[in-house]
Amino acid sequence: MSDTKTESFEFQTEVKQLLDLMIHSLYSNPDVFLRELISNASDALDRLRFEGLTNPEWLPEAELGITLRVDPEQRLLTVSDCGIGMSREEVVLNIGTIAKSGAAEFTAALKKKQGKEIPPELIGQFGVGFYASFMAADRVTVTTRKAGADTATRWESTGEGGFEISEAERATTGTDVTLHLKAAGGDAGTPDYADEWGLRQIVRKYSDFVSYPIRLETVGGEESKGGDDPLNSMKAIWTRPDDEVSEDEHGEFYKHISHDWSDPLLHIRTRIEGNFEATALLYLPSVAPFDLYHREMAHRGIQLYVKRIFIMDECRELMPEYLRFVKGVVDAEDLSLNVSREMLQQDRQIEAIRKHLVKKVLEALGELKQNDEEKYLGFYSQFGPVLKEGMLDPREKRERILDLVLCASTVNAGKLGSLAEAVDRIPEDQDVIYFLTGASLDTITRSPHLEAFKKKGIEVLLFSDRVDEVWLEQNPPEYKGKRWQSVDRGDIRLGSEEEQQAAEEERKQEEDAFGELLGRLRVAVQDRVKEVRLSQRLTESPACLVNEEGELTPQMAAILREAGQDVPETQPILEINPTHPLLVKLRELCETDSSDRRIAEFGELLYGQALLAEGGRLDDSAAFSRKLADLMLRAL
Ligand code: ADP
Ligand code: MG
Repeated sequence: MSDTKTESFEFQTEVKQLLDLMIHSLYSNPDVFLRELISNASDALDRLRFEGLTNPEWLPEAELGITLRVDPEQRLLTVSDCGIGMSREEVVLNIGTIAKSGAAEFTAALKKKQGKEIPPELIGQFGVGFYASFMAADRVTVTTRKAGADTATRWESTGEGGFEISEAERATTGTDVTLHLKAAGGDAGTPDYADEWGLRQIVRKYSDFVSYPIRLETVGGEESKGGDDPLNSMKAIWTRPDDEVSEDEHGEFYKHISHDWSDPLLHIRTRIEGNFEATALLYLPSVAPFDLYHREMAHRGIQLYVKRIFIMDECRELMPEYLRFVKGVVDAEDLSLNVSREMLQQDRQIEAIRKHLVKKVLEALGELKQNDEEKYLGFYSQFGPVLKEGMLDPREKRERILDLVLCASTVNAGKLGSLAEAVDRIPEDQDVIYFLTGASLDTITRSPHLEAFKKKGIEVLLFSDRVDEVWLEQNPPEYKGKRWQSVDRGDIRLGSEEEQQAAEEERKQEEDAFGELLGRLRVAVQDRVKEVRLSQRLTESPACLVNEEGELTPQMAAILREAGQDVPETQPILEINPTHPLLVKLRELCETDSSDRRIAEFGELLYGQALLAEGGRLDDSAAFSRKLADLMLRAL
């Protein structure tokens, strides 16, 4: 046609890389391309039905369904739906790019896997299901017409380099994805996707529960034996008795609703009974999606149904933000079919369902933690930091979250263990939980703040996720009757009353002896710290920095600044260790000549290395290095 404008586009680099992997078929199971295309068709029908509530004229007269059209002669397979369709802009955006925020992560993940088989979770994490078509086809065309529009768009690509967009014709709303199938057999042993029997098997295996009928049509062939019956049973999986649903079926259903390619970690089935009724089938993923921390993107994956009819996706009202990784379906009996997102926010019934679901998820996690430590550790390594965001949710009973928290400690050599068990180990007469936070486990395990605790055999819990700074800062509730006490805050006194008294005596004497030196050091670092004092927490290191009780930690201050908050600068306290030989020598030097210039230099170096020891950054690292080099030179 002369009036058809054809425009060529290059694939985004990341898409090229992905397609390259798909085409050269490093992926072990090409059959799943059909699952992905059917899943997209089903999503498009869901969206049309939802939009149809406000635009009833968009709904077709014919039944909402999906058709697989095979032409064995031409080796064509078309997946056709009468769903929402796409505009020209949407086609370009949806099929040809990976969401911006995901692109960098994708490249990084891909680098790590170079040359190896693509792990399904890598693909699933980035929601790139459509591209799976290129495992079965050497050319794909998409013809689509958006609901409410008069014109259609055609997308075409061989999967190498780029794609072409042109105007097209389509009699009704919806989308056809046509695969020009690769030759069957060959070295790669490509299955024959033009084979009717094979297609039936694949649909049964991967898409049986899809709630729209999937029909098979053979072009030019005789009437297929099954007549007009759908290939899928369409039976909602959550309405079937639990013991009749196999793990495989759960796996496929989960992949359909979550767009993930890995099997779920576990499923939770629950019923709400009483004034109103609902059934829920929830899944915990085993792998975190790349966008878990992209606030705007990490959609919560709960689908809302009313009496088996799909109402909406991403129903945020049913799951709190900190459980955004939970996927699944809620099927309510008594809600209106015309419920809108706005109505959900005030709906008491929805609120009650939400509470029930949160309880069930936390209970299931509790059981997993109890019964399968290794699996729980796997879960926690993926989702622990998100779960702990629950400590910041004002609606949440925070003890419930604490029961699920894992942490490292000075007694378990950097391994994660149960917080609850650690707190049970605390002696009865110690009424606080000692803890330390920091940017990495590596730095905090070696922190000078821990020295006295290690020496006295007092366990300190170590937290190194970013979110830990935040919830531990916000006055966490007593846990098992014990208060939280940071070991890098305020004045720490350890031991029994007598021991403390003896220590106090000793400190008085030391303070007299060190008075002059402390004064000199204060002058040397007065613009960096607000006080220099003797430490009770150091046994090996010469110095450390501490904050006053109730003050922000430097890490927390950094987090808040990053979030755009105006945080006033606060200065730490420099604590020095009076028993350290360096300080003993320095004191002697000060006694001999209190105006010795080296004292000030040492003061700055002590401050600098205390800052470095806790993973901090020096304002003027060049000056610090220079001083250090000078000192080394003189020492030689
Ligand atoms: P995902 O389904 O995880 O979003 P896909 O690669 O499978 O990723 O699909 C990319 C996007 O293309 C979809 O989000 C959707 O917007 C669009 N799309 C794909 N297939 C269809 C279809 N049959 N009808 C309408 N839109 C579609
Ligand atoms: Mg998809």
